[in-house]
Amino acid sequence: MANPLYDRLFGIHASKTEPFLLLQDGTTLTYAQFLATTAQLAHTLVANGLNPGDRVAAQVEKSPETLALYAACVQAGFIFLPLNTAYTSDELSYFLDNSGASLLVCDGANAETLQPLADQLGVLLKTLNGDGSGSFMQEAKGHPTTFETVERDLQDLAAFLYTSGTTGRSKGAMLTQDNLLSNADVLVDYWRFSKDDVLLHALPIFHTHGLFVATNVILAVGGAMIFLPKFNQDAILQFLPKATSMMGVPTFYTRLLADERFTNELTAHMRLFTSGSAPLLAETHHQFEERTGHRILERYGMTETNMSTSNPYDGERRAGTVGFPLPGVELKITNPETGVELPQDSIGVIEVRGRNVFKGYWQMPEKTAAELREDGFFITGDMGKVDADGYVHIVGRNKDLIISGGFNIYPKEIELLLDEQPGVHESAVIGIPHADFGEAPLGLIVAEKGKNPDLEQIMTIVKKHLARFKHPQKLLIINELPRNTMGKVQKNILRDEYGEAV
Ligand code: AMP
Repeated sequence: MANPLYDRLFGIHASKTEPFLLLQDGTTLTYAQFLATTAQLAHTLVANGLNPGDRVAAQVEKSPETLALYAACVQAGFIFLPLNTAYTSDELSYFLDNSGASLLVCDGANAETLQPLADQLGVLLKTLNGDGSGSFMQEAKGHPTTFETVERDLQDLAAFLYTSGTTGRSKGAMLTQDNLLSNADVLVDYWRFSKDDVLLHALPIFHTHGLFVATNVILAVGGAMIFLPKFNQDAILQFLPKATSMMGVPTFYTRLLADERFTNELTAHMRLFTSGSAPLLAETHHQFEERTGHRILERYGMTETNMSTSNPYDGERRAGTVGFPLPGVELKITNPETGVELPQDSIGVIEVRGRNVFKGYWQMPEKTAAELREDGFFITGDMGKVDADGYVHIVGRNKDLIISGGFNIYPKEIELLLDEQPGVHESAVIGIPHADFGEAPLGLIVAEKGKNPDLEQIMTIVKKHLARFKHPQKLLIINELPRNTMGKVQKNILRDEYGEAV
C-alpha cells in the first residue's frame, strides 16, 4: 500500500546490505538491519493498541533504535513526537496533555518519575535506553522483521515538533509527509547529496535539524551517517576522515576552531559543511575558511517551515547571509504591522510559502491564524531583508525587537557593531525597562579569551556609528551567553538576569 514518505525514504532500502549507520563503537548497521528493527517496532506500536493518527511521544537518548522508532511511526501511520531530553516532567506534562499522545517512550532512568504522570493522563509508558535496551525493545524483539506498511498520503501528518518556545507556551507544529519529503528532495539537489555521502551526524534528533534535514537527506539518497550520540570534539576529530559532509549549529564550528587539532589536513577531503539553527558569526565563517579552506554553507529554516533558504553550492557563500530562497519556496519581506510587502533592502518580517510550510499548530486555531495567512504565507517572526543580489539577511527576531521611545531597534545591528570591536568575542543586546522610553537597549559582551575590551572606547564607537536612540544604556562584560541545545542565545534568561542592571 502506498505511503510516500515511508516508501521513498525507507522502503526502497529494505533489502540493502550497504551501511546506513556507522556508530561510535565502530559497529555498522546496514539498511536492511535498521529496517528490520523498524518493522519490529511498528508491530510493537500496533500490538499496544495504537491506531493510525495516534501520537507517539519519545523522550529518549539519540540511538539507532530512536531513529527506527521515527521510521516505525511513519511505516505504521502514527505521528512521531520527539521531545528534548532536557525537558523536566512538568514540561513533559504539558506536551503529553496538549498532544493527546497515546504512548510515551522514555529512558528507563526516568520511568519511575514519569509513571504517575502517564497514569494521570492515561498515557502508556514504555522504556527505551540509549544502549537500545528497555521494555519497548524487549517487546519488539518478539515481533517479525517485516511489517505491512500502512497506507498514508502526502497530506497525512508525519510528526509534531513542539517549537523551541524561548518565549510563551510551546506550540505543536504539525508536519505532513509532503512537508518533509518535498524539503528532502530539494536539499538533495541543492546540496548535491548522493549515495556516496557519509554525513557526520552529531546533532540531536529531537529537533528538525538533526531529525529531518540531516537524516531525511541521507535516507533520500541511500547514503550513510556517522551517528554520534552527541557533539564531542574528540569523536568529531576521530571520525572526520571517514566523512564527506557535516551539518552543524554554529557552536560546533566555534568549538572546533578553538581546537588546534582541527586542521586543513583533517578536512581537505570534505565536500560540505553546513550551518544553521542560529546565526553564524561572519567572523566564524572567515576563520573557518582561513583554517580549512572551506566556506561553510549557511542556511535558514525553522520547525514550522523546514528549510527555506540556503547559500548556493557553487556560487558565492556569503558570510552573514542565509542565501537564496530554495527552489519552490516563495519569500517576501513585509511590514510587521500592516503585512504589506516591502521593497528590496528594507527590513521587515520574513514570510515564506511553499510545500515546506507546515499545516498549522495542533489545536491552536487562533495561533495558527495569526501566523499562517490564508494565502499560505507563514509569518516567520524573523526580521530580515533581501539585498540587491537576492541574498536574504536575518537581522533579528520580531519578538527580539526593542521599542524605545517609539523607535524600533533591531538588536542585531548593535550586536554586529559590538562584535567587531577589539577584544569582543560575541555579544547580545536586550531590551530593559526604561522609565522614560519604555525600553532601552543593554549591551552584554563576552570578551575574547584573555582580553579585556575597553568599554568606554567601544561606547564611543557605538555613539559614532548609531543613532542616539540605539545607544545602549550601558555595556557589561559577562562570562558567556546562555544558549539552548540548538545553540540559540536565550535572551529571556539574559532579560531575567540583567533587566535591572541599569
Ligand atoms: P527552530 O524552530 O528551533 O529551528 O528555530 C528557528 C529559528 O532559528 C528561526 O526562526 C531563526 O530565528 C533561527 N535560525 C535558524 N537558522 C538561522 C540562521 N542561519 N541564521 C539566523 N537565525 C537562524
